Amino acid sequence: MPDFQGISTLAIHGGQSPDPATGAILTPIYQSTTFVQEAVGQHKGFTYSRAGNPTVEALERALGAIEDAPPAVCFSSGMAATTTLLLSLLKSGDHVIISDVVYGGTTRLARQILAPLGIATSFVDTSNADAVRDAITPQTRLVFIETPANPTLKLSDIAALAGVTRAAGIKLAVDNTFLTPLGQRSLELGADISLLSTTKYVEGHNATVGGSVTTRDTELLERLRFVRKTLGTIQSPQEAWLTLRGLKTLPFRIRLHSENALVVAKWLQKHPAIRYVLYPGLESFSQHELAARQQLVSGGLISFEVKGGKDAGLALMNSVRLCSLAENLGAVETLITHPVTMTHADVPVAAREAAGITEGLVRLSVGLEDPSDIIADLDRALLVAAGATVDNVDQGASCVTR
Ligand code: PLP
Repeated sequence: MPDFQGISTLAIHGGQSPDPATGAILTPIYQSTTFVQEAVGQHKGFTYSRAGNPTVEALERALGAIEDAPPAVCFSSGMAATTTLLLSLLKSGDHVIISDVVYGGTTRLARQILAPLGIATSFVDTSNADAVRDAITPQTRLVFIETPANPTLKLSDIAALAGVTRAAGIKLAVDNTFLTPLGQRSLELGADISLLSTTKYVEGHNATVGGSVTTRDTELLERLRFVRKTLGTIQSPQEAWLTLRGLKTLPFRIRLHSENALVVAKWLQKHPAIRYVLYPGLESFSQHELAARQQLVSGGLISFEVKGGKDAGLALMNSVRLCSLAENLGAVETLITHPVTMTHADVPVAAREAAGITEGLVRLSVGLEDPSDIIADLDRALLVAAGATVDNVDQGASCVTR
């Protein structure tokens, strides 16, 4: 295998080689439960697809290659990745620190599954490294952060936190779903573990559900594979193949998502119906300097509030036509989401409010359509939300040129 350096080359070729049986340039979908053994104890590296599968391994080599790490471990979903990681590292009596703003499913896992098993969680403002240092106890094994965080896009300083966790002798995991290793180099910034919901940008076409964990810690990799085999949380070959195909265009897509999002964020910021816009690429973003230092791109996610709060936000989301009201992000289609009733519905109200996940918050995953069309759709929906009739708006009462 030639020694490639460039990240776009690695996304296409990293860990890949023609299929040895046929020369197929893409690793085929090895849709097989089991693998015939030549004799007892003699096999070609695969025995049963819950333990390992050649198509899944091709994806794992590729994801490892783009992080300059050994092959990743792939899972049936981002949540399967998080669950398997936490159960690999934690046991009853242990303590984990999790960012106070994270995907709602991560909160649900900690509060409703891990807590009854005797694994305690502190939800900490991980944008403050001192607060993390103060929250570490002798029982703490792991700091699990999400940056940018879903849905408020709050950032945590990975390098600063890596200093804290290293000094304490514990591990730092980064959920890098919002940027991927093409947009943020978690391991190079000092994290021990990089976790992705590949459902989002990596596959990128709203076609799969999947997750991955990458680490340079070979002992942890072995443990993850053992726990995955035991829990049955492995990725399927079909989904792995689609994800591998998506990965090949990720370097280009993530840049274009970011470019489009900046155009839309700047437009939203000037719109008189908008109360505020959260986007790391905007100079007005309170952590803009950290974003510029830590991230290679600003990302495709924007959060904002419409003046008029919840009612106006819901009216906007119910009025879009090009944007789809849906619970996903990171795909080529622009998706709009109401975190309070959708992705973060299970987060207790007090925790939600403390984290700034307000009833009126709207999350926009900017797709790869022409930004002018995304803007026209939002503009039209904002007019409807402000009380204009659909007919008036369709007859050209647009304010796109404002
Ligand atoms: N991490 C983040 C930041 C997410 O946004 C999500 C899902 O929205 C997940 C993890 C969970 O991923 P999945 O839906 O693939 O289980």
